[in-house]
Amino acid sequence: MLKRCGRRLLLALAGALLACLLVLTADPPPPPVPAERGRRALRSLAGPSGAATAPGLEAAAAVAPGAPVREVHSLSEYFSLLTRSRRDAGPSPGGASRPADGRPRPPAEPLAPSDVFIAVKTTKKFHRARLDLLLETWISRHEEMTFIFTDGEDEALARRTGHVVNTNCSAAHSRQALSCKMAVEYDRFIESGRKWFCHVDDDNYVNVRALLRLLGSYPHTQDVYLGKPSLDRPIQATERVSENTVRPVHFWFATGGAGFCISRGLALKMSPWASGGHFMSTAERIRLPDDCTIGYIVEALLGVPLVRCGLFHSHLENLQQVPASELHEQVTLSYGMFENKRNAVHIKGPFSVEADPSRFRSVHCHLYPDTPWCPRTAIF
Ligand code: UDP
Ligand code: MN
Repeated sequence: MLKRCGRRLLLALAGALLACLLVLTADPPPPPVPAERGRRALRSLAGPSGAATAPGLEAAAAVAPGAPVREVHSLSEYFSLLTRSRRDAGPSPGGASRPADGRPRPPAEPLAPSDVFIAVKTTKKFHRARLDLLLETWISRHEEMTFIFTDGEDEALARRTGHVVNTNCSAAHSRQALSCKMAVEYDRFIESGRKWFCHVDDDNYVNVRALLRLLGSYPHTQDVYLGKPSLDRPIQATERVSENTVRPVHFWFATGGAGFCISRGLALKMSPWASGGHFMSTAERIRLPDDCTIGYIVEALLGVPLVRCGLFHSHLENLQQVPASELHEQVTLSYGMFENKRNAVHIKGPFSVEADPSRFRSVHCHLYPDTPWCPRTAIF
């Protein structure tokens, strides 16, 4: 472990050096992503940090602030720009231009499960299709930490867990509806008085032991924003500063599809832009989805840098590349589609891919072999 960390440190230093060189020679940054395209479009632009690299070793092409913004007219043009500059610049091997990679560090403070508030975002149509799987697996072990944010009444769900919040937000997958849910998540977290806020989607598996280890290595009173970007450079957006003035702004954000966490110290500072109805109006200011709005508040408005962490995983990366031997260390997993193929972590048994396509049941039995429904004879 120590040897590996040493190697990582060396690689990170080499990468940082290379990243500095790249900043000096880099292409101009891409233009703002058209605001109305939403997170799905942003995700389709996922760079090498989205396409799996070894955990904690994502590449980041830094963009020089103030560099000229080139005009592009379509998303495909934007995409080719991104890919081209990625090819030109190349990933900085093992390097991140950011200071830390978010791997667990020495413990800073012991954390109890009740110190953490995990918000799971869902929608009524996914209660059976997605949420039940989470309730059977990771949530069943961590009910006191987990709060489900949805948009429709469901008696069956209310019977299973007490922590269901009906946000009364629209059930649409629109930017406004998703920001509405994030706003309620934030307010509920603040009310809870807990030390850490984590947000996940309903296609995420949370490995709570690994999460507690990670969060326990940071003081919750300081400014900490932990997660994984889905782009390989800061997003360029247009910030509305007054009725008829806009200005360019760029910042990193952690993709909501991999989950992210925020310390209480930082969450309190976010309050002027995130509490009450403010989150919605802040989201309107940049007209980007909820996870981008979080990055905007934290990085652009408060000047707190995202700590990128390779232990968070969305289905935008090739999940087959998460080493089975390191599943214990991963903080979140996901499943879904990647480059038009089914995407899930690779783990042998105890359930077949047909019986357990997300692999979440198999992962759960791997992490909690004493679970009553896990086959006792399973050898991993
Ligand atoms: N979602 C939602 N309302 C919708 C559709 C999706 O709140 O109408 C939630 C969904 O439950 C999930 C998140 O938004 O937590 C992301 O949805 P999905 O995984 O379908 O899309 P992705 O953006 O990952 O492709
Ligand atoms: Mn998803």
